[in-house]
Amino acid sequence: MAVPDVDGRDIPDGRIDVHTHAIAPELAAPAPGRWPSVERTAPDKARIMLGGSVYRQVDDRCWSAERRLADMDADGVAVQLVSPIPVTLSHDKPAAPAAALCRQQNEFLADLCGRAPDRLRALGAVPLQDVEAAVAELRRCVRELGFAGVEIGTLVGTTELADPVLDPFFDEAAALGAFVLVHPVDQTLDPRAIGLGLGFGLGMPSETAIAGAGLVSRPPRRLGVTVCLAHGGGALPQILPRLDRGASLDRPGEPLPTERARELWCDSLTYDADSLALSVRRFGADHVMCGTDYPFVVRESPAGAVLDDVDPDLAAAIGRTNALAALARVSSAPRP
Ligand SMILES: [Zn+2]
Repeated sequence: MAVPDVDGRDIPDGRIDVHTHAIAPELAAPAPGRWPSVERTAPDKARIMLGGSVYRQVDDRCWSAERRLADMDADGVAVQLVSPIPVTLSHDKPAAPAAALCRQQNEFLADLCGRAPDRLRALGAVPLQDVEAAVAELRRCVRELGFAGVEIGTLVGTTELADPVLDPFFDEAAALGAFVLVHPVDQTLDPRAIGLGLGFGLGMPSETAIAGAGLVSRPPRRLGVTVCLAHGGGALPQILPRLDRGASLDRPGEPLPTERARELWCDSLTYDADSLALSVRRFGADHVMCGTDYPFVVRESPAGAVLDDVDPDLAAAIGRTNALAALARVSSAPRP
C-alpha cells in the first residue's frame, strides 16, 4: 500500500535510498583552471574532468532517469535522493564561479528529478564558501525547485562545518526542514591516506569523523536540522566515547559528544551489520537511513543488502520510514 506524502503525492512501496549521485553529461567548467566538467565520449558514456585530467569515467546511469528507474525497480527502491558527485562541490574554490556551477548542477538535478517526481528527489549544491549565497541557493533549491535539501562537503576551504560562520546556512536549513547530506570529498582527504592508496577505505571515514566530531564538540549549540553523515557516519561512531572522555576533562558540565551525536543522522552504507549496529547505537534507531552510493562501483547492491541481517522492524525503519520522516520535515516546514 502506498503511503500518502504530506505533499499529496503518493510514495510508492519500497526502500528509500538517501545517498545516490548524478551529474549532467554536458557539465561545463564555470571558469578556467582546475574546475570539474564533463565530456561526453559516447551516447551513454562520459568522463568527469578536473581541469585537464580525467577524474572518473561515468555512464548514463548518472543522467538518465529511465536507466535509474529501471535499476531502482530491479533493486526494490521506491525513491532515491539524488545528489551531486562530491568532486563537483568545489567549496575550496572562488565563490562566484562556484555559485554558477551550483546553479548549473541544480538546474540539471531539477530536470532529472522532474522526469519522475514521485521517485526521484534532489539534494542540490550550494556555494558554502559564500554563506549568504549558499543560503539563497538553498532556499531556491527547496522553495522553487522542490528539492529535499542539499549535499555539502566536510570542509569549506579551511573552515570546519562546526565554525559559527556557517550558522546562517544551518539556521536556514532548519527553517526549511531541509535534508543536508554531509559527504567527504576526495580533494580534502588526508594526503597520508591517499599516499597509502586508502582514500576510499580510510581517508573518507576519517574525514567524516573529523567533521562530525567538530559538530558534536564545539561550539555547544544545537543544529536543529537533518544533518546526515554519509557512510554510516564514517569513523565517528567508533571514536565518540573517546571524544566524551576528552570533553569531560576539558569542558566539564557541557553535553557530551555521544549525547549530541543523537542530533545527527547517518546512512547505512557501512557494508557490515556490526558497523551498522554501532551507527544505530550512536545516532539512534530513528536516525539511520538506507544509502547506497548508486551508481558507482563501490555501491551497495542490492540496495540495503546490509539490512538482511538486521531485525525486521529496524530494517523497515532504516530502509524506509526514517527517510519518510525526514522528507516530511521538508514538506511540512512553514512557508513564509
Ligand atoms: Zn557518495
